[in-house]
Amino acid sequence: MIRTRFAPSPTGYMHVGGMRTALFAWLLARQAGGQFILRIEDTDKAREVRGAKEHLIKSLKALGLNYDEGPDNNGPYGPYVQSQRLNIYKTWAQKLIEQGRAYADPYSEKDVQLFREQAKSQKKPFLYRDNRPAKTSTWDGSQPLRFKSDPKNYNFSDAVMGEISTGPEVIDDFVLIKSDGFPTYNFAHIIDDFEMKITHILRGQEFLASIPNYLNLYEALAINPPIIATLPPVLGPDGKKKLSKRDGAKDVLDYIKLGYLEEALISFMATLGWNDGSTKEIFSRNELIDSFSLDRIGRSGAKFDDKRLNWLNGHVIRSMTLEELFVKSKDFWPEEAKSYSPDYLKQVLGLLQERLKYLAEIKNVSRLFLVDLPINPQLISEHKQLSKLSSQELIAILKQAKQSLKDSDFTVDDLNNHLNKLLDEINQKPIILFSLIRIATTQAPFSPGLSDSLSVIGKEKSLERIDAQINYLQKNN
Ligand code: GLU
Repeated sequence: MIRTRFAPSPTGYMHVGGMRTALFAWLLARQAGGQFILRIEDTDKAREVRGAKEHLIKSLKALGLNYDEGPDNNGPYGPYVQSQRLNIYKTWAQKLIEQGRAYADPYSEKDVQLFREQAKSQKKPFLYRDNRPAKTSTWDGSQPLRFKSDPKNYNFSDAVMGEISTGPEVIDDFVLIKSDGFPTYNFAHIIDDFEMKITHILRGQEFLASIPNYLNLYEALAINPPIIATLPPVLGPDGKKKLSKRDGAKDVLDYIKLGYLEEALISFMATLGWNDGSTKEIFSRNELIDSFSLDRIGRSGAKFDDKRLNWLNGHVIRSMTLEELFVKSKDFWPEEAKSYSPDYLKQVLGLLQERLKYLAEIKNVSRLFLVDLPINPQLISEHKQLSKLSSQELIAILKQAKQSLKDSDFTVDDLNNHLNKLLDEINQKPIILFSLIRIATTQAPFSPGLSDSLSVIGKEKSLERIDAQINYLQKNN
């Protein structure tokens, strides 16, 4: 029975790298018909952020990464919040003390500083275990409890990083329980993974170097370690540094708020460092469950590229039926949409669907179909060709356009015919004619295809808007 876990610390932000860890652990459990567990690792009270636990849970739910056991979904091995498990850690710590494998650390920061300097002057690396106290007092909780390590060689296998060999020099005494009564991650995760019957640990690279020390503790506790899979880091777009907010990486819930779709986000994260052996980038949830495997995760860092995310999301948007997209779009329309029928809004959405990168764009790009936007003179004055024409010339073209469009029934085909005929008649470049009509009828720098837009805006509104532009040009001549 495969049991995986996601074990975030509630520090406030659900970044793409963390969510990818959760996704991989979830996939591994789901494909084996196993269980996925959420455990909140809140033992570092200084770093904890209020509301972060709820934020994490919301993020997992938003992406459909349901967990079988967790803080709000208790299971047989709970509680699933580390701060509620302090007695469990104490019991295990007691065992180590009895075996002579843990001791009360009597040293102050100053003492440790001195040890460091001594080691430096002897040109030796500093190790706690070189400075173990000769006699230790009984541990009363007021001092840190430190593990008494047993330095040795290790050859171990990481499910992603492969075979790793280390020497005794990397093994040292580390803190199990801090003087504030909370366990360290190093201790707590080992106890919890065992008690919660976790079979696979998937986590970030920051823990790779500590694995030999964890193995040393597993041995002392007579616990068989789970399979460990260390995931490669997610790097910024330059492929050098670890991804940060400065690289444009948003919190997962912010992506949801902007209208990035579950399928795109999941595909994007899954393919940060993993592939199915082909160049495929878009996967449904079920396809991922079928094809995911730890041995196709790469060992080197994966580059975060928000252009790729936009591309994926746009692709998902375009692969939906209009009906599906309409349902998904419901929270993204501007106020003004309320006074229009669903049928009209669907027509608008049908035009936008071709170009949307994410659904929050709907709010702005739909407005020209919902309200008469104020005349924006810059659209002409900053237009390369139109800016060369006089107001009189512009007015003349608009008047001809109006004349021609009056006879159209405003279906897209008929609009195309009228516009092409007009182009032949007036001896102007297409860019001039079509840009001018587009600007007059939309007052927007970009819009979907001209005939498509006009057809949705409708005859009455289109002609009114052309009139408004003519009036403006006449008044501001
Ligand atoms: N609490 C650790 C973190 O948030 C998780 C490490 C793990 O998955 O074991 O970095």
